[in-house]
Amino acid sequence: MTIKKRYAAFESRLAEMRAVAIKTSMTWFLWVNILFSLFILGRRYFSPAEALAPSLHPAGVLETMVVINLLLSSGVLFILRMAPLSQASWLRTLSKSIAFVLSLCWSVCFYVLISSEDVRIIFPFAALLLFTALISLYFDPKVLLSFIVPVWITILITTLFHRTTLTVLNALQWVLLAGLLESGRRILNGWFLLALRREQENADLIQQLAQLASKDPLTGIANRRAFEERMDQEIVNHQRDGTGFGLIMVDVDHFKLYNDYYGHQNGDRCLITISRTLEEATRENAGVVGRFGGEEFVILLPDADIDALKRSAESITDALKRQALPHARSPVNDRVTVSQGLATWKAGQTAPSVIARADKALYRAKQQGRNQWMVEQ
Ligand code: GH3
Ligand code: MG
Ligand code: MG
Repeated sequence: MTIKKRYAAFESRLAEMRAVAIKTSMTWFLWVNILFSLFILGRRYFSPAEALAPSLHPAGVLETMVVINLLLSSGVLFILRMAPLSQASWLRTLSKSIAFVLSLCWSVCFYVLISSEDVRIIFPFAALLLFTALISLYFDPKVLLSFIVPVWITILITTLFHRTTLTVLNALQWVLLAGLLESGRRILNGWFLLALRREQENADLIQQLAQLASKDPLTGIANRRAFEERMDQEIVNHQRDGTGFGLIMVDVDHFKLYNDYYGHQNGDRCLITISRTLEEATRENAGVVGRFGGEEFVILLPDADIDALKRSAESITDALKRQALPHARSPVNDRVTVSQGLATWKAGQTAPSVIARADKALYRAKQQGRNQWMVEQ
C-alpha cells in the first residue's frame, strides 16, 4: 500500500472512530449537562438563602438559559440515539454546533452567577464542567474547543472586569486551568491516535499475511489453496444461475529433464514464463491461473463450455509455440511444451470431482505422447 493510500485509510478510520466515540461520549457529556443544569435550578434549595447575594440581572435570565440547556441536551440525546454511525461527518457537525450552543448558554449562566453570587462555588463548578468536556471530547479538538473556548473566555473576562473583589490571582488560576486542559487533551488524544495506528498496522499485517498465504511465491499467481477457494466460490455462483464453467490442468512435459540440463534456477525462470504465458493466453476469456504444484498449473475459465475450453487449450499451445523456450533434452520437441486435460463443471458436481476428471484427461494426453490436450470422457 502506498503512503498516500495508507494515509487516506487512516483518515477514514479516524473519522469512523470519532463518530463511534462521539456517539458514546457525547451522550455521557449531555447527561452531565442535564445534571449540572438541574443543580443550578435547584441550588437555592441546597444553599442557605443568606449565602446568595441578590441578583443584579433581570430575574429569570439564568433559569431561562438553564432550561434551554436542559431542552437542548435532551433533544440532542434523542437524535444521537437515532443517528446512524455511517453519518460520521454529520454527527461531527451536529456535535460541534451543539457543543458551541451549550457553551454559549453556560457562558451566560456563569456571567450572571459571577456578577451576582458567591464566586467560590463557581470556579470549581466551571472547572468540573470543562474537565468533563475534556474527558468526553478529547479525540476531536474542534468539538472540544467549541465548548471550552466560549465558557473559558467569558469567565476570564467577567472575573477581570466585573468583580473588583477578585484578584489577578484568580485570573492566573484560570490561565493555568487552560494549560492543564490542553496538556490533558494532548495526552489523551495521543493515546487515541496510537491505538488507531496500532489497529491499522495490525489490519495491514493481516492483509499482507492473507496475500502471502494465497500467492505462489515463485510465480506470484494463486497457489493451490487460493485456487480451490476461488473454485468453490465459482461453484456457488454458478449453482445459482445454473450455468457451467471449464477447467484445464496443464503439466510441463519432461520438466525434470529441463532442470537436469539447464539447472534449477533456469527451471524456475521457465516456470515463471510459462505462468505468464498461460495468463496471457486465457486473459480474454477471464481465465484464473493457479499453480497446482511443481510444474503443474490449473486454469479456471468462467462460463466456458467444452468448445470454448478446446479453443483456450489451442491458444495455450500456440502461445507457448510463439514463446519458443528451448528444451534441448525433451524427447517430444526442441521447445518447451505442455500437456493439457480439459473438463467442465455442471450443477451438482464438486470441485475435487472436476479436478480429478481434468487430471485423468491430462494423464491420457501424457500417455498419447504429450504436447497435446485431451477432453474428459
Ligand atoms: P512429465 O512429462 O511426465 O510430466 O515429466 P516431468 O519430468 O515433467 O515430471 P516429473 O513429475 O517427473 O518431474 C517434475 C519436475 O518438476 C521435477 C521437479 O524438480 C520439477 N519442479 C517441481 N517444482 C519445481 C520448481 O519450483 N522449480 C523447478 N526449477 N523445478 C521444479
Ligand atoms: Mg507433473
Ligand atoms: Mg511434467
